[in-house]
Amino acid sequence: MTLNTQWALQWIRNCQKEVHANRDYLIDLDREIGDGDHGENLDRGFTAVVTSLETTETPDIAAVLKLVAKTLMSTVGGAAGPLYGTAFLRAAGKCAKEELEPADVAEFIEGGLGGIQARGKATTGEKTMVDVWTPALEAAKAAAANGASAVETLEAAALAARAGAEATLEMKATKGRASYLGERSIGHLDPGSVSSAIIFEQAVKAAK
Ligand code: ADP
Ligand code: MG
Ligand code: MG
Repeated sequence: MTLNTQWALQWIRNCQKEVHANRDYLIDLDREIGDGDHGENLDRGFTAVVTSLETTETPDIAAVLKLVAKTLMSTVGGAAGPLYGTAFLRAAGKCAKEELEPADVAEFIEGGLGGIQARGKATTGEKTMVDVWTPALEAAKAAAANGASAVETLEAAALAARAGAEATLEMKATKGRASYLGERSIGHLDPGSVSSAIIFEQAVKAAK
């Protein structure tokens, strides 16, 4: 499949299903080092997104991602709402095309990461979703430079995203609610990193 508007719509529908399926898992992860609402917040958000997609015209990828941004921003709350909202909004700004090519995939991830960092001011190693989006961007850039197709570029990003989420296990949180735990945040996965990995993986699944 090509990365077009149909792909974007399928990606977001997949996110809703997968976030819903992982709702309790994400709640448990957030209960360990946060306040336990991450799964519930995201499930509510993506469910609202799918509802708004049913009733709104989204003629291109950018329109889909802008609607996602707006809806997540107004329904998710907490730290993740504004972070994901800004990520999707900035990513949308890089998608003013009918179809994404390999270099566009890297650009739109770069847009998303830029949004997360503009909002949250985190860098790598602070046990946040930045630790997923950064390696995903690097992998996408490398894949695109090596002549991978757009879908292969996305696949490389998703693999790096999942590895990035797993690598948060050993990190000490220095941003967000988990940072209140200091050393005690070590040995737990960062919930926002796990949900970010899910979002990347669903983008790949939608392209198959
Ligand atoms: P809250 O902590 O307000 O309850 P959520 O539980 O919805 O918000 O989201 C928590 C997730 O947000 C964390 O797991 C982390 O990945 C992400 N996060 C928190 N603060 C930041 C930040 N400053 N920069 C990037 N990501 C962050
Ligand atoms: Mg929380
Ligand atoms: Mg909260």
